[in-house]
Amino acid sequence: MTDKTPPSDAAAPSRSSVALTRASLFKFAGLLVAGFVFAVYLFFYLAQDLDRTEETESAFYTEKAMQAFEKTLRLTLKDYAFWGDAYKHLHSEVDTDWAYVRQNLGSTLYADFGFQGVFVVDDSDRTVYAVIRGALQPVQASDWLKQRYAEVLSQARANAQAETPITAFIDINGSPALVAAAPITPGTDPTVVADDRQASVLIFVDILDATKLEAIGKDYGVQGLRIATGDDVHARASYPLGENGAAGSLHWDPERPGQRLLSLGLPLLSITAVLVCLMAWVLLRRTTAGAKALDASYHSLQRSQGALATSEARFRDIVEISSDWIWEVDTCWRFTYLSERFEEVTGQAREAWLGRSIDSLLCTETGTVSQWLSTANRRADNSVHCRYVDTRGQERITRVSARTMGPPGFRGTATDVTGEVEARRQIEFLSQHDALTGLPNRTCLQAFLDGKLKVLSTQENPLVLLSLDLDRFKPVNDLLGHAAGDQVLNEVSRRLCECVRHEDLVARVGGDEFVLILCDLSNQDNVEALCQRVLASIEQPIEIDGHQTFISASIGITMAPNDALEASELLRYADIALYEAKAGGRSTWRFYSGDMNAKIVERRRLEADLRFAIKHGELRLHFQPRYRIADGQIVGAEALVRWQHPERGLIPPDTFIPIAEQTGLIIALSNWVMSTACQYAAQWPQPLFLSINLSPIEFKSGGLVERIEQALADSGLNPARVELEITESVMLDDAGGALALMHTLKKLGVRLAMDDFGTGYSSLSYLRTFPFDGLKIDRSFLNRLGESADDRAIILAIVGLGHALSLTVTAEGIETAEHLRMLNAVGCDEGQGFFLSRPLDVQAFDALLQAAETES
Ligand code: C2E
Ligand code: CA
Ligand code: CA
Repeated sequence: MTDKTPPSDAAAPSRSSVALTRASLFKFAGLLVAGFVFAVYLFFYLAQDLDRTEETESAFYTEKAMQAFEKTLRLTLKDYAFWGDAYKHLHSEVDTDWAYVRQNLGSTLYADFGFQGVFVVDDSDRTVYAVIRGALQPVQASDWLKQRYAEVLSQARANAQAETPITAFIDINGSPALVAAAPITPGTDPTVVADDRQASVLIFVDILDATKLEAIGKDYGVQGLRIATGDDVHARASYPLGENGAAGSLHWDPERPGQRLLSLGLPLLSITAVLVCLMAWVLLRRTTAGAKALDASYHSLQRSQGALATSEARFRDIVEISSDWIWEVDTCWRFTYLSERFEEVTGQAREAWLGRSIDSLLCTETGTVSQWLSTANRRADNSVHCRYVDTRGQERITRVSARTMGPPGFRGTATDVTGEVEARRQIEFLSQHDALTGLPNRTCLQAFLDGKLKVLSTQENPLVLLSLDLDRFKPVNDLLGHAAGDQVLNEVSRRLCECVRHEDLVARVGGDEFVLILCDLSNQDNVEALCQRVLASIEQPIEIDGHQTFISASIGITMAPNDALEASELLRYADIALYEAKAGGRSTWRFYSGDMNAKIVERRRLEADLRFAIKHGELRLHFQPRYRIADGQIVGAEALVRWQHPERGLIPPDTFIPIAEQTGLIIALSNWVMSTACQYAAQWPQPLFLSINLSPIEFKSGGLVERIEQALADSGLNPARVELEITESVMLDDAGGALALMHTLKKLGVRLAMDDFGTGYSSLSYLRTFPFDGLKIDRSFLNRLGESADDRAIILAIVGLGHALSLTVTAEGIETAEHLRMLNAVGCDEGQGFFLSRPLDVQAFDALLQAAETES
């Protein structure tokens, strides 16, 4: 079993695809971020580089602009300074008119060139000509140039030979200005002759104001070129004017292509990043979902692999533990596989059977297994019972199921059902048979009878049905115990079976009721001969625990097809005949005849009439007086019921009491008898006792004590004057119950007498045990008195016994004086009979009492 666990997770990946996918996607994302950071860095670097280049360039252009500015001023000044006319009119002598008025060096210099200051300084450093912003003004150049004045003059003069003006940036009242100075020379004019005097110096001052700078900046492509002011701290580029920026400095705002690039590129980059992120997210989701699906399918694969392994293991286990064996056959019906269980179940070797035909091992009820397997349209869930003989030579039954299999052939299981089949057979037997005797029961009888009746027409002989009932079986059961009763029944069954032939049937259909079905009896004589044999056999003594028990039976006979053709009718008719046999004195048989049925119908009518009679006062009471034998005195009377039938006249009780007993009417009838009799007795002139007959049925049905109490109370009759006559069948049916009841009755104060003594079973034992006050010797003893001498001895013995038990002994059926004398002789206490008095109707009985009264 240990190797049958499903495969472990060894085959599973150490990490799931989802985890793997996630990891690689995170790596990818990291790379992306790094890429983006690098790109941003690159952008910034590039932008800065661009900006720096732009700054350098703009600085270069600013310098160029300033140099050009200087050069222009220098060239302009050169034109004016190295000019013969200027030498004449401003050095040799100062001709303001020539210079200013005639506009040779006048206001146009301001208007056209924007020179704020134009000065001429003579050899003795005095300012001899000054035009300030186009206006002739008496201003000293030294006031404008301040400390640079001397330096400018000397430098200018020093360059006289080279005829190159000097320039310098100076600060004029906080504004940078370019100063150009050159000595005035005759230039190339041959007409003018230079004097010895130190050269006069022409000075042009061009103040760099905002407008000028803007124009310069525009020419050179430098943005926002301006003079630096104290609060212009944001300027990113500057250019110093003069030595170390003594004249101030220029500021400008170089263009920032880097910043532009950034402002354009960064959002683009961001958008790209967002888009890439978005795409990565989508990709992540897709791939994760894909990976999940992959994982799920992997897991489901794993699960189904596990399930497959489990199912295989389960199958293997089941094959090993079940009692079934499994087989496979090829198309030639030869075994190609047999499971291990085959050997254990059949005791046969597998090797010996592999390759052999399935038909040589198993056969079905109807044919070979191969025939069954090749049946067209055989359902897959069909199975068939097969037989085989095991190694011990025992026949076994196996249930074979089969299916066609992939490689042509069949496979299936074989289940050993020997036990099951046997158990079923047993159950079937039990359901059809009587557990005690093993004889067929009513169910089986019914089936047998139905079967026989079906084929009746083809048979020569009639079908004979005997209904047999044991006489007085109940006392045997009660007195000797149920085990003895069972033994008797078993013995009777055995004897019955001995009397019939094999093809006949003996069934037990009730406690002591049997039915015999005989197929071979050709006529009535044969049937009677058989009945004779059966009764003789049953009447043989049965020995139980060393004691001999005698039993007899009565038989009712019906025959098919004469009497009936229906099983139920036959059985009913046999019962009617049986009833007749019992009524006919037991230990005999009766054939069913049509008039029996008529009798039954008659009984039914009588029953209905009786019911009516009880209700409608058709019952009458007769009283038969009982005399003391010794002196012939009336001591009491027995109440005897009659039925005054409107059509049939007076009916005796023997005709209707049994019907009343069978139908339960006896209670109502007896109630009427008791109350009426008590009422009469209470009116009798003498305190005679009243004797009332009780039916055994009344003992069983309950309420007897209460009913008697009621009758006594209603009539006011002294209970001591009442005697109840009980037959011994009361004690036979339920001795214990009867005893208790009789003790209760005794407590009421009534007397109890045993009626019909001597006709029953073992009367003597009852007399001793039960609280009787008297016994009545059955009239059959007196009837037979003439025939046998024994009866006299018996009567004598009974009287003796009665006296020994202090019982009043009464003789019934005294029909002759002889009877009376004999009874007197044996000392019998009381007697009644036709010889003394017949049962009398109420008037007659009253008359009798009157007569007796007057007599005494
Ligand atoms: P039983 O108790 O043995 O009653 C006596 C029967 O013997 C009566 O028959 C009576 O007429 C008859 N008898 C009296 N003297 C002679 C005689 O000298 N010779 C002959 N051959 N017979 C004589 P009855 O009235 O036909 O009653 C028959 C049976 O009916 C009674 O037998 C009794 O068992 C039963 N029976 C009668 N009345 C009642 C009743 O009210 N209740 C019950 N439960 N049974 C009753
Ligand atoms: Ca009686
Ligand atoms: Ca009697």
